[in-house]
Amino acid sequence: MNIAVCIKQVPDTAELKLDPETNTLIRDGVDAVLNPLDDFALEAALRLRQAAGGTVTAVTMGPPQAEDILRKARAMGVDEAVLVSDRAFAGADTWATSLTLAMALRQLGPYDLILCGKQAIDGDTAQVGPGIAAHLGIPQVTYVTRIDWHEGRLLVNRLLDGGTVRLAVPLPACLTVLKEANEPRLPTLAARVDALRDQPRRMGLGDVRLPPKDTGLEGSPTRVVRITVPTAAR
Ligand code: FAD
Repeated sequence: MNIAVCIKQVPDTAELKLDPETNTLIRDGVDAVLNPLDDFALEAALRLRQAAGGTVTAVTMGPPQAEDILRKARAMGVDEAVLVSDRAFAGADTWATSLTLAMALRQLGPYDLILCGKQAIDGDTAQVGPGIAAHLGIPQVTYVTRIDWHEGRLLVNRLLDGGTVRLAVPLPACLTVLKEANEPRLPTLAARVDALRDQPRRMGLGDVRLPPKDTGLEGSPTRVVRITVPTAAR
């Protein structure tokens, strides 16, 4: 089974600050890390590879510094790392992000399974996984708490309000994985050092085969008009 895992670099802080002029996140001066919820998607992919064979590819869209999280994924054991990066992708909202990632995955694949984290701890929308599935026209299951490969079939548990439902998932498909699904492995020091030498494959605007008008700020229908902090009710 060939699996792609989408991972995102996020600021290493719970106190995000917004630029009052542009209404975007201030990322300067804040350390960046792998989105903690993406660890569970990576671990799920590595366990599925062990059960079903195949390969695992980690893909991120971001600035050149996002290579750091791809190195962590390599140290955990993924076979290939891909950085989708181009000035044209800057300012993307969740629509443009998921479209660009979907087209990159289409060029890289075909993949049997695409895994995402539940949500990114900075943007927090949980829209990118479902967006990728919609752009690729494949089934999606969100809030997945358990993944099994049984006699050539993918079986998952999906969290509901009052319990879980067990589903057989036709492939190709896209899943968003919750932290209940597994306990992510810690890469060894040796694997981390090895990964420092790793150069991820790079994809730019020409490689994803999208017109510039469909990417970045230009391809983003969202406009942040105003941001306010709600006052606490007494
Ligand atoms: P979620 O949907 O919560 O993420 C769910 C999962 O999807 C993640 O766990 C991960 O598995 C996957 N995923 C999410 N993003 C990526 C990614 N980039 N690569 C690989 N996998 C991913 N953000 C910027 O970083 N730079 C900008 O310049 C920028 N400009 C913006 C401008 C506007 C007008 C708006 C509305 C938003 C902007 N954002 C920008 C925020 C950006 O929309 C989101 O951070 C991004 O689309 C992902 O959404 P999210 O963080 O809510 O991810």
